Amino acid sequence: MAIKTDIAVIGASPAGLMAARYAALGGAKVMLFEKKEEIGKDPHPANSVFKGMMNITGEKIDSSYVVRTIKGMKLISPCGRKIKVKTEGYALDKGAFDRFYEKKALCEGVEIKTGTEVINLRRKESGVVLKTVSGNSGTSESVKAKVVIVADGILSKNAQMAGLHTMKHPEDIAWGTELTIRAPGIGTSDYAEYFIGSHAPGWKSTYLPRGGDEAAIGVYVRHYGQDTSSFLNAWIEKFKDIKGIADDEFEIIESKSAGDPIVTIPDQTYTDNIMAAGGAAGQSGIGYAMHAGQIAGKVGALAVAKGDYSARTLSKYRSNWRSSLYTEHVFGRIGLETLRKMEDDEIDELFEVFEGEDVSSLIKGNTVNQGLSVLSLMLQKNPASLLKASAYFRNR
Ligand SMILES: Cc1cc2nc3c(=O)[nH]c(=O)nc-3n(C[C@H](O)[C@H](O)[C@H](O)COP(=O)(O)OP(=O)(O)OC[C@H]3O[C@@H](n4cnc5c(N)ncnc54)[C@H](O)[C@@H]3O)c2cc1C
Repeated sequence: MAIKTDIAVIGASPAGLMAARYAALGGAKVMLFEKKEEIGKDPHPANSVFKGMMNITGEKIDSSYVVRTIKGMKLISPCGRKIKVKTEGYALDKGAFDRFYEKKALCEGVEIKTGTEVINLRRKESGVVLKTVSGNSGTSESVKAKVVIVADGILSKNAQMAGLHTMKHPEDIAWGTELTIRAPGIGTSDYAEYFIGSHAPGWKSTYLPRGGDEAAIGVYVRHYGQDTSSFLNAWIEKFKDIKGIADDEFEIIESKSAGDPIVTIPDQTYTDNIMAAGGAAGQSGIGYAMHAGQIAGKVGALAVAKGDYSARTLSKYRSNWRSSLYTEHVFGRIGLETLRKMEDDEIDELFEVFEGEDVSSLIKGNTVNQGLSVLSLMLQKNPASLLKASAYFRNR
C-alpha cells in the first residue's frame, strides 16, 4: 500500500525546504524526502548570501548561521582594477543555515524523511508514485502524491525521470570548487573579492573572509569540463601571492566541488502534477532558489485546494517566477557570456569606466533600470567601452 500525501518534495535544498514550508503554510499535507542522513551534514559548498539577494524571499537574516558580516564585494580585473560594491553580505555556516530552514519547515508541519532517497517517479491515476529507499537496511516504500516538487539539485535525476528539460544551455553550467582555508588574519577583511579574467574562464575566482584566520577561496569555470583542479591550483598560488601568505602559513581545511547553473536559463519547469525548483530547474543562487521554492510551494498548495494538478494549473508557477526573476536571468546570462568572450585587456578597459564609482547606486531598482544606469555611465565616461560589450556576439 502506498503512503498518501498531498505534496511530496524531493531534496532538502534551499528551494526544497522553502517549497515544503510554503506548501504546508498553504494548507497541504507535505512530505519532504532527503537522501542525506541528516540535514546540515556535509552541506552544499554555497557559503554566502547578500542582503539584496535574500530580500526577494522576505526572509530576515538570522545570526545563528552567520559566521561573518561583510560590507560588500570588490570586483577585480586582470590588471588589478577594483570596483567596490557596497551591499551587506554574510559568510554562512551552511549546515546551520540548512538546519534553520529545516526547523521552520517542521514548525509548519512538514514531515521530513531524512536518509530516504527517491529512486523512481511515475505518474499514475491523477497523481505521482514515488519509490523511496531508506537507511542502510534499504527499506523500500511507495508514496503517492497529488503534486511533486523536485528540488534535488543540479544533477537532478528526478526532473529527468519526469521528462522535464528544465534548462536551456546546460553546457554552460559553471563547475566550481570552494576551499575553506586557514592563514593568519585572512578572515578579517570587510569585503569579499571576485577576480575576473582568463585565469577563471567564463566566470570568476573568489575570496570570502570568514573571521579570524579562516576564509573561503574558490574558482568557477565554464566550458572546460567538470574538473577545475588546474585552475584551482593556479588560483591558490596566485591568491597566496596577492595576500602575501607564505606556504607554511597556508592550510586547506576542506574542499568541495559542484555545478552552478549561473548562466543557464530555466526552461520546462512544470508538467502535470510536477514542478522543479532550485538547481534542478537551472535556478542559481540561494536566495533565488528559495524564492522559486516559495512560489512552487504556494502554487502546489493552491492546486491541492482546487483539486486540479494539471499542467495548466501549475503553469502559474512558471508565470509567477518569470514575472519576478526571468529578466534578471537573461541579463545575467548576457553579462557573463560577454565577459567570457572578452580578452583580459578588454576587461581591464571596461573596469576603468566603473573604477572609483559608487556602483551600489547603479544596482538599485529592477534589472532593466540597472542595465540602463550602467549603459548611461559607460556612454558618459567612455563611449568606446560600449564596443567591448559587442564581444557578446563573438562566436566562441
Ligand atoms: C561551488 C559552488 C558554490 C556556490 N556558492 C554559492 C553562494 O555562496 N551563494 C549562493 O547564493 N549560491 C551559490 N552557489 C549556487 C548554488 O548552485 C545554489 O545557490 C544552491 O545553493 C544549490 O542548491 P540546489 O538547488 O542545487 O540544491 P542542493 O543544495 O544541491 O540540494 C539538493 C538536495 O537534494 C538531495 N537529493 C538529491 N537527490 C535526491 C533524491 N533522489 N532523493 C532525496 N534527496 C535527494 C541532496 O542530498 C541535497 O541535499 C554555488 C554553487 C556552487 C557550485
